[in-house]
Amino acid sequence: MITIKSAREVETMAAAGRILADTLALIESHVQPGHTTEELDRLAEEFIRSHSGARPSFKGLYDFPKSLCTSINSEVVHGIPSAKRELHDGDILSVDCGVCLDGLHADSARTMPVGTIDAEAARLLAVTQECLEVGIAAAVVDNRTGDIGHAVQTVAERAGYAVVRELVGHGIGTRFHEEPQVPNFGRPGRGHRLTEGMTIAIEPMINAGQKEIRTLSDKWTVVTADGSLSAHFEHTVLIHADGPRLLTTVPAGTPV
Ligand code: MG
Ligand code: MG
Repeated sequence: MITIKSAREVETMAAAGRILADTLALIESHVQPGHTTEELDRLAEEFIRSHSGARPSFKGLYDFPKSLCTSINSEVVHGIPSAKRELHDGDILSVDCGVCLDGLHADSARTMPVGTIDAEAARLLAVTQECLEVGIAAAVVDNRTGDIGHAVQTVAERAGYAVVRELVGHGIGTRFHEEPQVPNFGRPGRGHRLTEGMTIAIEPMINAGQKEIRTLSDKWTVVTADGSLSAHFEHTVLIHADGPRLLTTVPAGTPV
C-alpha cells in the first residue's frame, strides 16, 4: 500500500533525517585507513541513540545484526560491519543507514573515499551522485516511478556504467520498506504515479562493470558478479507541489 504522510509525519521524518545526516557526517569524519567497519557501526549506534526517541532502523530489520550497512569496493550493499574489516587507503566504502524517530523512518546512503582514491573510483562516485541528483529532480507530482528510473539509468549508462536491477528504492514511512518500488531503470511515463505527500527513498546502485550481482555466503553481502567497483547514494524525498524536498539533509533542502 502507498501511504500519504500528514504534515506532522513529514516533520518527524525530516527530524529523523537530520539525525541521519549528522550520523553520516560523523561516520565520514572517521572513514580513514586503519579503522574497522565495526568501529564505525558502534559510533553510529551510540550517536543515534543519544537522541531522545531515536533508534537505528536497520538493527533487527529482517534480523540484520548492525546499525549500518558497510560495503567496500566490489560490495554493492548490505555489508555487515565487522572488527575484521579494516579500511585501506584507496578503498571506497558505501555506508547505508536508517534512523527511526517516534515510529517514522528515514533512509540515506553515501559512498565515501578512504584516503586517496584513484581517478576511476572518483568518477564512479561522481556519476552515482549525479544519478541520485537527476533521480530526485524527476521526483515531482504526476511523474511516475519510471521517470525516476529512466533519469538514473540514462546518466549511468551514458558514463559506461551498469544499473543494478534486483535492488531498488522504495516508499518509506512507519514501515522502513513501503510501496511503491522505485527502480533505478525504466521507461518514462511507466510505473506508479507520484502524488503529494508520498515519501520515497531514491537510491541508485551503480556498478563500474556489468550489472550482475550475487550474494555472499553470509546471506547479506551483495557483490558485483564481475568484481568491479560499485557505488550507492540515497536520500529520502518528499513528493511535494513545490518540488522534491530532501528529508535526509541538514538543513532539509540543502542540495545533494
Ligand atoms: Mg538505505
Ligand atoms: Mg533504502
